[in-house]
Amino acid sequence: MGLFSRRREPGWQPPSPPHCTCARHLDEELRRTVVPVGGGIDGTDGVGPASIDDLLSPGGLSVQVNRPDDRRLDGSTATFHWDLGVYDDARMHYDDGAELELDAALSAQPGVEEVAWMDREVFYVSAPTLCADGVLAAAALALLDDRVRLPEG
Ligand SMILES: [Zn+2]
Repeated sequence: MGLFSRRREPGWQPPSPPHCTCARHLDEELRRTVVPVGGGIDGTDGVGPASIDDLLSPGGLSVQVNRPDDRRLDGSTATFHWDLGVYDDARMHYDDGAELELDAALSAQPGVEEVAWMDREVFYVSAPTLCADGVLAAAALALLDDRVRLPEG
């Protein structure tokens, strides 16, 4: 976990279009794009390629504003702007030990300043100028980077 260099400003409110700086939102093309299954994921029933739209569910990708009243592991509050959940349905689309870890892929998206991988399924994201839709689009684009998956085999 890195140093929390960019703490959230007091009073920050999540921006909405057109006041955000998102390079991309969840447009129809992005929603229709299919994400492969990670090469290191065992093939079991129900595991297969899924569209981003399929993954935008409570069991897949979800985002909410990082709540100031949450107790944090280090005792601080609301260091980040967003909590990004990458739950079971999305888990099978990236591999541990791949060329690019998912948090690094997220960090590389425009507008994302810092990412802390808090536990298996939750990422804290510092992205003051992105709206919720744009954070999900950034997560989708991170999952669509083939380097987050091991080669099949
Ligand atoms: Zn936006």
